[in-house]
Amino acid sequence: KDIDVVPILEKVVSTFRLKVESAGGTLTTNITADDTHIFGDSMHITNVLFNLLDNAIKYKSGDRRLLLDISLENDDDRLVIKITDNGIGIKRDDLKRVFDRFYRVSTGNKHDVKGFGLGLAYVKNVVNFHKGTIHIDSTFGKGTKFTISIPILKQKL
Ligand code: ATP
Ligand code: MG
Repeated sequence: KDIDVVPILEKVVSTFRLKVESAGGTLTTNITADDTHIFGDSMHITNVLFNLLDNAIKYKSGDRRLLLDISLENDDDRLVIKITDNGIGIKRDDLKRVFDRFYRVSTGNKHDVKGFGLGLAYVKNVVNFHKGTIHIDSTFGKGTKFTISIPILKQKL
């Protein structure tokens, strides 16, 4: 189906904003994309955004207020979604495994924070299903950025 990612993002953000702000954090959105329509499934895209924002909150640093930014950009024929946090970050050796089912980083807040290690495996599956790519940049102790790129839907009728 032809779906617009903007209202999906806005809906997910509205459910997380209170949670972030009541903990003293900030959730910002930056939409510079002109074409935000993709061929996809709104429920699954909702869940992808939900999982990534949920992680950003779960793996926030105990030392500083959470800064969470979500941006939508166009890059040629693609919609690029970036989710950036200033949380605990992920070590290089763990980065390649975080998309594995049941993998949780042992140095993370694993013991304080509940989870099965399934969120990112699901996220990756949904992104693949939309013919997209997902990439992580992370610095341990500093923060993490997820970049998702999905082809836009060309509605040339
Ligand atoms: P679930 O999502 O199934 O409830 P989970 O959050 O532990 O459990 P994933 O979402 O798959 O599982 O994430 C895997 C692991 O990657 C996490 O346990 C955590 O160690 C690490 N991780 C994920 N997102 C972040 C992030 N934004 N910052 C720091 N570490 C992260
Ligand atoms: Mg998760």
